[in-house]
Amino acid sequence: MLKDILIKLKLVFDNCSVCGMSILGESQGYLCSSCLESIKPYHTVVYEPIPYVTSYKVFTLYEGATAEALRLLKFKRVKPLAEFLGKCISEDLLNFRKSVGADYLTFVPVHFFRKWKRGFDHNEEILKACEGTFQYLILRRKNSKPLYLYGKEERFRRVAGAFYIPESVRSSVKGKDILVFDDILTTGATASSVANTLLSSGVNRVYFYFLCREK
Ligand SMILES: [Zn+2]
Repeated sequence: MLKDILIKLKLVFDNCSVCGMSILGESQGYLCSSCLESIKPYHTVVYEPIPYVTSYKVFTLYEGATAEALRLLKFKRVKPLAEFLGKCISEDLLNFRKSVGADYLTFVPVHFFRKWKRGFDHNEEILKACEGTFQYLILRRKNSKPLYLYGKEERFRRVAGAFYIPESVRSSVKGKDILVFDDILTTGATASSVANTLLSSGVNRVYFYFLCREK
C-alpha cells in the first residue's frame, strides 16, 4: 500500500511506472521490459477521414505503456524512450511509406521555444531511431497552449495557421507526396492544419503516420 503511494508520487524510481514491478538494473529506469514489450501494433483502428489528409496509419492506441512512455518522454524528458518508440514503429512506418510511395518523410514539430525548454523535439527523436531518412520541412509559428485543453471545434480553430513551410524548402516539396509523422492522433486538428499548409505550398498529397490514437 505504502509502496503504491510512493510509486504514484514518483518517490521510488526503481519500480515500473505502469505496473509497479521492480526494474532495478534496467536501463532507462522508468518502465519494465514486459510493459515496454506490450507496445505492439493494434490492427483494428477505426479510420475516420481527416480533412486534407489523403490517408493515414496508426501504430497503436494511446493507453497503458504507450501513453506512459509518451508522458515520460514529453513531460519528464526521459529521452531514451524516444529511441525505444522509434524502434517499435520503424518497420511499420517504412512499410506504410513504401505503400503510399511518399517522396519525403517529415514530422510535426514543437515550437522552438518548447524544444529549447525540453532540450529536444520528441517527434524528431523518435524518427531518428527509425530506418530511412527524414527531412525538416515544417515549422510551428504559434507556441499554442496544449490542445487537450479544448473541445474538437476549438482545436481546429486554434491550430489553423499554426504551421508554415520555410521559403528555403518550398521549391523542393512542390508536386511531391509527403508523409508526416506525429505522436498522437486526437481530433485530427493538427494533422489537418499541417496538411492544409503543405498543400498550400504546392505539395501533391499528404499522408500521416501516428504512433498512437486516443481511444
Ligand atoms: Zn511494468
